[in-house]
Amino acid sequence: MDNILIGVDIGGTTIKIGFLTDQGTIINKYEIPTNTIDNGNQIIPDIATSINGKIKELSIKQESILGVGVGAPGFIIGESGIVEEGVNIGWKDVNLGNQLSDQLQMPVFVENDANLAALGENWMGSGNRASNFVAITLGTGVGGGIIANDQLLTGENGTAGEIGHITVAPNGYLCNCGKHGCLETVASATGIVKQALEVIDMKPTSNLNKYVQANGDLTAKDVFDLASNGDTDCLKIIERTGDVLGLVLSNIATIINPSKIVIGGGVSKAGKPLLDAIKHSFNIYALERLTKVCKIDTAQLGNDAGVYGAAYLVIDKFNNK
Ligand code: ZN
Repeated sequence: MDNILIGVDIGGTTIKIGFLTDQGTIINKYEIPTNTIDNGNQIIPDIATSINGKIKELSIKQESILGVGVGAPGFIIGESGIVEEGVNIGWKDVNLGNQLSDQLQMPVFVENDANLAALGENWMGSGNRASNFVAITLGTGVGGGIIANDQLLTGENGTAGEIGHITVAPNGYLCNCGKHGCLETVASATGIVKQALEVIDMKPTSNLNKYVQANGDLTAKDVFDLASNGDTDCLKIIERTGDVLGLVLSNIATIINPSKIVIGGGVSKAGKPLLDAIKHSFNIYALERLTKVCKIDTAQLGNDAGVYGAAYLVIDKFNNK
């Protein structure tokens, strides 16, 4: 019998939990709601109760469970398992690792959720177990994870790989982090909408403006839909977003020389035009020695990347002991 890994991905509204074999096959996967009242104090007991219930339900023997990996939104301090700041869930300096381990009586390992999405995508998704790998998630924000020489980069205080906060426009839009012009302000879903609103301001006769007048609202997906119908303003937004992403990725590539870069998240659904724009720009900015060994592709695991990565974290920690 294979060993069993438990992967937990804590999000702002739901917690995804998966039971996987150490070969990466999902045995069971489900979600529970994230209870954020009382500064998120219920979250850890909720996870423990749910996992214990599922172990019984699936008749899993305790000794076959290798451990639990958990991804949390926010900054995790090194190997401590402490979530210094949990974005959207109300946590401040919560010792997630120790508390959950005490309640479950199992080894628990903790990592930032974007880093785990990278580990997951590299383990069972489109990374193909690359030694040097970059994953970037373009959602409401922009998340990133970097694997260099087979190690997940975490850095001095858990801030390595925060690709979304690389400055791309020093006088640009205000970012959630308090700085201006981060990649996130351009390449996230919100960034795409901001770019579209700029076009509307400057070109009242644009299709974009007509669309907003008719629908009263605008999402990143609307911009992609208009682009796929050939709207030149929207195509330009995708092109510009791809250009900025290609530039950032070429700079990251200069540091870690990856064989694979994967693009995931809702914005990646802009599809081929965005991917082509990223590749075009990457090839312009990066050294040829970097581009010739590096493939840029879309992510494969979607919302499950975090659960896969959390499960893999357990293997990774045992292997590196
Ligand atoms: Zn920022």
